[in-house]
Amino acid sequence: AAPGSVSGATAFKVDSPYVRYADGAIESDYMYDTTIVSRDAETGQLKAKPTKVHYQFQTKTSVGRVGLMLVGWGGNNGSTVTAAILANKQGISWETRKGTQEPNYFGSVMMASTVKLGVDENLRDVYVPFNEVVPMAHPNDVVIGGWDINSMNIGEAMRRAQVLPVDLQRRVYDELKVLKPLPSVYYPDFIAANQEERADNVLRGTKQEHLEQLRRDIREFKQANGLDRVIVMWTANTERYADIIAGVNDTADNLLQAIADGHAEVSPSTLFAVASILEGAPFVNGSPQNTLVPGAIELAERERSFVGGDDFKSGQTKIKSVLAEFLVNAGIKPLAITSYNHLGNNDGRNLSAPAQFRSKEISKSSVVDDMVGSNNLLYKKGEHPDHTIVIKYVPSVGDSKRALDEYVSEIFMGGLNTISIYNTCEDSLLASPLIIDLFMMTELMTRVTYRVKSDADAVEPQWQPFHSVLSILSYMLKAPVVAPNTPVVNALAKQRMAMENIMRAFVGLPPNNEMLLEHKAF
Ligand code: NAD
Repeated sequence: AAPGSVSGATAFKVDSPYVRYADGAIESDYMYDTTIVSRDAETGQLKAKPTKVHYQFQTKTSVGRVGLMLVGWGGNNGSTVTAAILANKQGISWETRKGTQEPNYFGSVMMASTVKLGVDENLRDVYVPFNEVVPMAHPNDVVIGGWDINSMNIGEAMRRAQVLPVDLQRRVYDELKVLKPLPSVYYPDFIAANQEERADNVLRGTKQEHLEQLRRDIREFKQANGLDRVIVMWTANTERYADIIAGVNDTADNLLQAIADGHAEVSPSTLFAVASILEGAPFVNGSPQNTLVPGAIELAERERSFVGGDDFKSGQTKIKSVLAEFLVNAGIKPLAITSYNHLGNNDGRNLSAPAQFRSKEISKSSVVDDMVGSNNLLYKKGEHPDHTIVIKYVPSVGDSKRALDEYVSEIFMGGLNTISIYNTCEDSLLASPLIIDLFMMTELMTRVTYRVKSDADAVEPQWQPFHSVLSILSYMLKAPVVAPNTPVVNALAKQRMAMENIMRAFVGLPPNNEMLLEHKAF
């Protein structure tokens, strides 16, 4: 195979006394520089103190065999990503009006973007593929499976989705038609009533029995395919929010008891999260609802299992998290952000119901908070731009979503600046690469442990995994779930920088910055 087309390929080796390649792992010593700010009690002046923290990271180099189980496998995203990975894996090209089209991974930050490694002897930048900084799983090697409340096989589901070009559909159909989703959990109260006709592949029994069946499904999928690890991802319909009720879903034990009692407020997605956590399978929520209720997060922490969410950040919100950052960092004050969406796929149909729309509205709304909060020259405490979100179901546009956004900002001397954006795109072609990135980044985090060293250590500190809530996935998510007392970052450039520099830290490389001192100081 060509370099980079298999799991675990890396583009370079680090030559440093602080990096060791041994025993199936890369181990790095890393000085983390931060600035601690305090305020002088008497003068009120800010004091900034540079500090260093000595971290050690250990990254297992063997990726092993990894599986991805999608909840909502037969949906537009699930069938599109499955068909696209198959086409990439087998090098299946197809005919279009413009000629032959080769498969690719465009839109995946891991598979189709690069990271600056450093400069060569002529001070020219050297870039490497993002997925070759540390050993990562390659999507071509992943075994895909999953559940759907609809029994349609993945070949037919791909046709129903009407996303991929018809010649490609023809070429992958035979291999996809043998893939059948496992029966799933259907509690009609959580998704729109208009989804009912799809529900012909559902588990009978109690909530506790459902939980046990999902756990068995994960174990059997792992065993049947000889997998070292399975990652579970929710790409099923958007659910309504679950009420957070004391004694029901507020703690790990209460949540487990609520499932045993068959409590009505435990959603299907939370049941999947709990099943995954108990099986040690990382769980990522690609939809906006509050799947990761406090009890689920506590359970993940207790079981040292990984969770991430919420809601794939695909089109409109991705642009918003770029544009709002640009405006605010340019000293321009957004006054109103107004977003309209028209979409005609099954997701749009489900979102035409008020409770499901409300979940999406919440997840789309918080995306400029961190940028607004960072600039107290433009915004007084508590002040916020108007932010309105409208979603309408327009069947004839199908998966080709329209997103219309207007940004009205205050500029110099009270002037106004209005930016208007009109975006058309196949929704599932945006979301599928995010599924791949979430899978790859999550898988990586299962192989990394760290410890903090200090001169005062009497005994060696223990290696430990990162926090159960994977905030490092934020780049791919609209409303990132983070660990308690951790800031939420929405700004896209910062989110990308976090992934890039954490991966560099794993191999003992300093963070990338744009100082270019080597060009300025000679
Ligand atoms: P879709 O309606 O085509 O697919 C969802 C699938 O989930 C359907 O096949 C449905 O039968 C199945 N399903 C519903 N409830 C289920 C359950 N309890 N268990 C198993 N399967 C179940 O939707 P889609 O376009 O693939 O989007 C999937 C999700 O991703 C939606 O919630 C959507 O809001 C979210 N999302 C999509 C995008 C995007 O496509 N660009 C972006 C962000 C978020």
